Amino acid sequence: MRAKATQVKPTDRIVASKDNFPDDFFSRDPSDLAAYGKDWTKVFPPAPSLIAFPRTTDEVSRLLALCSEHGAPVVPSGGRTGLAGGAVAASGEIVLSLSRMRRIDPVDETGATVRVQAGAITQAVHNHCEPFGLTWPIDFASKGSSHVGGNIATNAGGVKVIRYGLTRQWVLGLQVVLADGRVLELGGALEKNNTGVDLRQLFIGSEGILGVITEATLKLARIPQQLDVFLFGVENLEGVLRLFREARKGPCAISAFEFFTDKCLARLLRHRTLRPPFDTSTPFYVLLEVEPGAANAIEPWLTSLFERALIIDGTLAQHAEQARSLWSLREGISESLSATGLPHKNDIALPIASLEGFCAEFGQVFESRYPGWEICLFGHIGDGNLHVNVMKPDALSNEEFWAQTKAADRDMFALVQKFGGSISAEHGVGLLKKAHLGYSRSPDEIALMRALKRIFDPQNILNPGKVLDVLEEER
Ligand SMILES: Cc1cc2nc3c(=O)[nH]c(=O)nc-3n(C[C@H](O)[C@H](O)[C@H](O)COP(=O)(O)OP(=O)(O)OC[C@H]3O[C@@H](n4cnc5c(N)ncnc54)[C@H](O)[C@@H]3O)c2cc1C
Repeated sequence: MRAKATQVKPTDRIVASKDNFPDDFFSRDPSDLAAYGKDWTKVFPPAPSLIAFPRTTDEVSRLLALCSEHGAPVVPSGGRTGLAGGAVAASGEIVLSLSRMRRIDPVDETGATVRVQAGAITQAVHNHCEPFGLTWPIDFASKGSSHVGGNIATNAGGVKVIRYGLTRQWVLGLQVVLADGRVLELGGALEKNNTGVDLRQLFIGSEGILGVITEATLKLARIPQQLDVFLFGVENLEGVLRLFREARKGPCAISAFEFFTDKCLARLLRHRTLRPPFDTSTPFYVLLEVEPGAANAIEPWLTSLFERALIIDGTLAQHAEQARSLWSLREGISESLSATGLPHKNDIALPIASLEGFCAEFGQVFESRYPGWEICLFGHIGDGNLHVNVMKPDALSNEEFWAQTKAADRDMFALVQKFGGSISAEHGVGLLKKAHLGYSRSPDEIALMRALKRIFDPQNILNPGKVLDVLEEER
């Protein structure tokens, strides 16, 4: 009888080379495997085989070269606040956590830039730049945990997109490690560089499938001296859109135009001890933040909004503390929905001009698919971005709930496609939206993305199965 050859798993081969790395480089601690194998979606059970914690680009490069050699799949992992399952390791992958790569260099005041390692926390970058009157204007509720690398890999949006645009606009240079360990320096601190195809842009928003971002040179904006924050009560979604049109024509430059419904507010108030903004609740709320315009112009503008019944109620923050309280009503929503129930989340975008038509029709989809269910709507409506959260009814099992939302998603995505929108505005595709990519991207585009993936990662070791499958037949 012949002895059975024992197969050595790729991960074991990687661990066998641990002498080439610091003692604390790898972890198989069950609590690390559980924590680093998942992101905020919490719907994919974590099952990584190993967690690696590099401190330098060189360590990332040597690890990826080894993984390539042994065909070991790797999941790049940032702050794990992603909402599309992009950082999930559910199939025995090695998680490459950037959490120890947090260096933030001194601010270059003249160039208004700062160089950081990818694991720098978004909020820490804000705090670092604030004394210079500068900021990296990527701002959202998870900024206390998300990493700059994760923000770039998802081309994150947030509450200031209407004023500053997406992350893509605030990245000057990138350092990226390719799947085979080669290190690319793309762009540095150059503002202008028209020397052919801008490879840097390929990595921004590619969700870790083309390379691992290890450092970035960030472009900084001046912090505005003063911002006025209003909260308005509005009758319906049409009214929210009318108010947006008025705000666009109004006396001040808009830096945020966010909305949420009374249902979102009710869940927020159940989760956190906050005061309701008005004595009487209104069906919809709009948070408007503006850079102050011409003196004496705001007062008459506000009066005219009331007179024309565009708003039912309204308040203007009188000082920074009040402004923060109004913002916490908006920023606490996502967390509150998950803390008080089971939401099925969708993050969709429409061209601003199509929002009204879309909203008129999606009410019908909800009525037929979710009769009497609780739908919590909020989002960055000034950018055409809606966060649609369907809450699980108590009477339904989780399995029934997921089956029904899956079917309804198809109707909603078809409507998004009809109005020229996107099935993922800012959260990315990851695992969650992969099957639906075709609603927003043509077959030719998907084929080109697949071809790019093969060029950058011929062995398909980087975040395999995320965004798209490399082989068409895997779909
Ligand atoms: C309460 C809450 C509010 C949110 N609000 C917003 C919002 O307003 N706007 C918005 O855009 N998003 C929002 N998000 C989603 C999330 O915070 C962003 O997508 C964020 O940019 C993810 O960063 P991260 O570091 O947590 O990335 P992770 O979740 O760790 O990873 C996200 C993706 O990027 C990849 N990745 C991570 N780091 C790297 C790297 N160094 N190199 C290559 N690939 C990498 C991962 O593999 C994964 O595919 C919110 C999330 C929460 C929980």
